[in-house]
Amino acid sequence: MASILYSPVIDLLDSAVRMVLSPLLTGPILLSFTYLPDTVRHVLATVAQHLPEQLASSLTSLPHANAITALRVLVGLGVVRTVNRVLNTMAANSWRLTAAPGWDWPNEIAVVTGGSSGIGKGIVERLAGLGVRVAVLDIQELPKELQGNPRIRFFRCDVTSSESVATAADAVRKEFGHPSILVNNAGIARTAPILKADEAFLRRILGVNLMSMWFTTQQFLPRMVQVNKGHIITVASIASFVALATAADYSATKAGALAFHESLASEIKHQYKARNVLTSVVHPNFVRTPLIQDFSARLESAGVRLLTSDQIADEVFAQIKSRRGGQLVIPSSATGVSGIRGWPTWLQELLRDGVAAGAVKP
Ligand code: NAD
Repeated sequence: MASILYSPVIDLLDSAVRMVLSPLLTGPILLSFTYLPDTVRHVLATVAQHLPEQLASSLTSLPHANAITALRVLVGLGVVRTVNRVLNTMAANSWRLTAAPGWDWPNEIAVVTGGSSGIGKGIVERLAGLGVRVAVLDIQELPKELQGNPRIRFFRCDVTSSESVATAADAVRKEFGHPSILVNNAGIARTAPILKADEAFLRRILGVNLMSMWFTTQQFLPRMVQVNKGHIITVASIASFVALATAADYSATKAGALAFHESLASEIKHQYKARNVLTSVVHPNFVRTPLIQDFSARLESAGVRLLTSDQIADEVFAQIKSRRGGQLVIPSSATGVSGIRGWPTWLQELLRDGVAAGAVKP
């Protein structure tokens, strides 16, 4: 079941649905069917000449009135879908449709936690390419590809420690200035059943994946509120929605990360009234990075298709560049999973069973 969610078939279906529900495509076709029926018949007859006989005859014998009804339904559904997307964007941006004002990339400063590897590294590369000065807060040195780039600076920092984050934040402000972008990305994972989880690791994973978000936000949000400009990105996971067997700790931190994002967005709007401070949350499915190297082979043998860190970094970067907040589920074909709590229990359980089959060691 888990593999079906992320299979090429689902991606293909997703693209097909997007296409037929695009009013920009179906609208003009409907207009042609309605107002230029003879031209449409002529075009269909020409196309039919190049098709196998059976397909050609069903194309030319398609009742015109039925085609118009089907097109009207598709245009209607497409319009509803478009309105829904616009409302989603507005809701995530204090009911504003336009991009937040006042951004100038070469004068912006970003902080990326866990920017020395995987997804974070990809985000750092893209931001620096845009001219943004990027502070990487990590316990791991910068990889070779990022070293020597004048726009990227490494600040050794253990994000589980509020003192370490405060020291790094002071250094960032001194060397670079006040950040307008904060990507809370650092993360760790390990698979173990609940009965075998050791306390030290439990405290560490809660610290890295969740508590660190309070520490970094406490350092950088006040200035964003003061100037009414900023963007805080929370890197969560599909595990925010679907808890994984042998990863209760990880799943709890990612459900918590989503809760953190939602509370943060609400506080920025209602407590601080800083409507130009943006928030985004990102839910990737499994990505081929060091984080999952211990169990990626098991996932793949269960049919799970791994994403690349470039795919995630591209989407996060596009979100930052759009100067809009929002929620990204990657791949987008898995967006339906975010509604799992409203599914019937039997369907939820089928999904969790499928994921567990890939996660639990035989
Ligand atoms: P990664 O292991 O490649 O990168 C994680 C980074 O976090 C590393 O550079 C590491 O040194 C850093 N880090 C770990 N502990 C730290 C600490 N105490 N202080 C500072 N930095 C620390 O992993 P990734 O896959 O790129 O993970 C990035 C984020 O994406 C994580 O939040 C992860 O949960 C999330 N995510 C990953 C996947 C996946 O399948 N890889 C899926 C969904 C979400």
